[in-house]
Amino acid sequence: MSTPAERHRALCDEIARHAHAYYVLDLPTVSDAEYDALYRELLALEEAHPELVTPSSPSQRVGAAPREGFRKVERAVRMYSLDNAYSADDLREFDRRAREGAGVDTIAYVAEPKIDGASIEVTYEDGRLVLASTRGDGAVGEDVTSNVRTIRAVPLEVSERRRMTLRGEIFIRPADLEAVNEMRRTAGEPEFANPRNAAAGSLRLLDARLTAERPLRAVFYDLVERYFETHHEMLAHLHAVGLPTHRRDTRCEGIDAVLEFIARFDSERHGLPFETDGVVVKVDELSLRDELGFTARFPRWATAWKYAAETGATVLRAITCDVGRTGALTPVAILDPVPLSGTTVSRASLHNLDQIASKDIRVGDTVILQKAGEIIPQVLSVVTEARPVETVPWEPPTHCPACGEPVVREAGEAALRCVNARCPGRLEAGLWYFTRRGGMDIDRLGRSLIGQLVASKLVTDLADVFALPAKRDQLVGLERMGEKSVQGIVDAIERARTGRTFDRLLTALGIPLVGSVAAKLVADRFGDLRRLLDASSEELRALESIDGIGAKMAESVARFLEDPDQRAMLEKMLALGVVARQPEKAPKVEGGALAGLSFCVTGSFDQKREAIWELIEAAGGEVHKSVKKGTSYLLAGEKVGKNKTDDAAKKGAKLIDWAGFEALRSAGPAQESSAEGEADQLALEV
Ligand code: AMP
Ligand code: ZN
Repeated sequence: MSTPAERHRALCDEIARHAHAYYVLDLPTVSDAEYDALYRELLALEEAHPELVTPSSPSQRVGAAPREGFRKVERAVRMYSLDNAYSADDLREFDRRAREGAGVDTIAYVAEPKIDGASIEVTYEDGRLVLASTRGDGAVGEDVTSNVRTIRAVPLEVSERRRMTLRGEIFIRPADLEAVNEMRRTAGEPEFANPRNAAAGSLRLLDARLTAERPLRAVFYDLVERYFETHHEMLAHLHAVGLPTHRRDTRCEGIDAVLEFIARFDSERHGLPFETDGVVVKVDELSLRDELGFTARFPRWATAWKYAAETGATVLRAITCDVGRTGALTPVAILDPVPLSGTTVSRASLHNLDQIASKDIRVGDTVILQKAGEIIPQVLSVVTEARPVETVPWEPPTHCPACGEPVVREAGEAALRCVNARCPGRLEAGLWYFTRRGGMDIDRLGRSLIGQLVASKLVTDLADVFALPAKRDQLVGLERMGEKSVQGIVDAIERARTGRTFDRLLTALGIPLVGSVAAKLVADRFGDLRRLLDASSEELRALESIDGIGAKMAESVARFLEDPDQRAMLEKMLALGVVARQPEKAPKVEGGALAGLSFCVTGSFDQKREAIWELIEAAGGEVHKSVKKGTSYLLAGEKVGKNKTDDAAKKGAKLIDWAGFEALRSAGPAQESSAEGEADQLALEV
């Protein structure tokens, strides 16, 4: 048997090892479920032994509370930007100057991908992450350490003990960006135009807990300290000590070899897990770099090759409309498949009806597509010379493609809207939004499954998701659903039923204009769903007085909660046992039976731990996540270790079981002292 400290160390190591395999090597070693199990064990262990928590524990990636602003970080060695090369001539000119500057005939370069994200500097001391800052103006950046600590691709510990000042890029994978944007779209928040904006925006959130929800990745490509003679040795070392690197560096003797790499890499780069818009060419010998030095703005020993944005031509076969959660119809071009930037494109966004009209895009037209930093290809223009004679201007639909009800165009809006509250298209989009990461996080419900659930009427509103575990047999009957995947879905739903904070639930509901930040403010004000449902119209509209919530948002919340369909759906959620409470700021119940008492809950009970926390707070008691000095009671269920009870005794907390707790709860504040006596008698023998 290992001691808790040994087990803690082993868990931290194992979790870090799996994260390394996943984020650095791209070779996952465990399933998500196994990873979750380890992580949960770690949390439980730390709850029982708070003294074991270290800054490097994987549990410490949750993000610190919001700040007022960012501290400035002045750096000794400026972070540089790069000069650009757009043609072979530009590159040869760069090479000529470098050779002349260094007085040599040929130079060995390293060519590597240029990652499209936000630049970052991260410092490790004695193997630990101690500081992270944005580029800022190069000389002075902003301290974003607590944000960067939430990024799981960035190790909290590395095996190199010497100081390392690393430079690299924080980015979002193209596939992840779509999920983030989907959530933002329906929450009324502006979409990120490209992965770079998304990464930069996420990095600079004042509330690092929000950064923690963003799927950020990292790659390092430079080290300020001179521990090596060449760039490629340095990169290999970074990888060896556990840091994520691009692992695509190629040493090229002379500029012709660089040009060959650039040509070859153009087709490879689209298969990479990060967005690249070019190749960075760097002098490999670090001593040569010193000789070359910097111009006023750029190093003379590196340059960035930029690939031209790719365009392609194809025929537009049809224009259909996607129905969004709020009923907005987005026109989509259905195309003859065409290869573009490494993928086959058969759909492109047309943004809105006005664009179709202003560009006069017609079915049958040959159109020019572009896919640059953006993920979704755009229709740039129409080749009018190639237009067949029989085409006609496109007519917007008069009826919803999902439900067939007439659509409306609201004054001043560019979009058509389906206003049918029971539209299956809207429900599908709403369910997708509801179940994504950052919301209820039941992402095992994929697109096609959601479609089947809606079509078969197994799910008729958001609340029905929580009735699915009871309908197992029907789930197994669906297309492509085996026992095992059904079990995975049921487990994920059970975790979401009681495991989400109230603001996550509110965000996931997708109330128009209410994104995750506003949802948090509303959740903090009301504490839980029951309180929100019971709030009066005046209370709801008074949300307007909260800093960060405008009149329009408050009105939107009020309208949502006054809609009988939505109310019925939310009541159904409560009836199905959905517990979503707001930690910390839940409103205090004055004078309840447990007023002035604090409880730490441990072990297993018939009820979920979250439900017990609710009971405690509802009776005016305080919940302590771990036993600390001043914790009145350790409420122990089954299977509680002796370590835990010993520790509680040491810290002066009294041990009670469920019966003791019930007695306390029913006693009321007047009999507090006698109730305590009673509870003492009921205390377990330790
Ligand atoms: P630019 O922003 O166009 O001036 O390009 C310079 C930026 O490219 C740097 O500040 C880095 O943030 C970024 N970058 C991306 N990948 C690399 C790489 N492999 N090496 C150096 N810089 C890179
Ligand atoms: Zn509809």
